[in-house]
Amino acid sequence: MGDDVSPEAARDPVCQMPVDPALYAFSAVHQGQTYQFCSLTCQQLFEEDPERYLPRQQGGTPR
Ligand SMILES: [Zn+2]
Repeated sequence: MGDDVSPEAARDPVCQMPVDPALYAFSAVHQGQTYQFCSLTCQQLFEEDPERYLPRQQGGTPR
């Protein structure tokens, strides 16, 4: 029930799995933001097309 994921936990933007930065060494930086991944596969998928996996930009001003 509810989310008990700690605020420090990151979420894999590709497969939506919660990932612990302390356990997973897969990461990529996109536009100044660091993203964590559960596996090298997810990292590579993200790097191929980051925009596809990014959450919608906040602010409600789509281009
Ligand atoms: Zn993943």
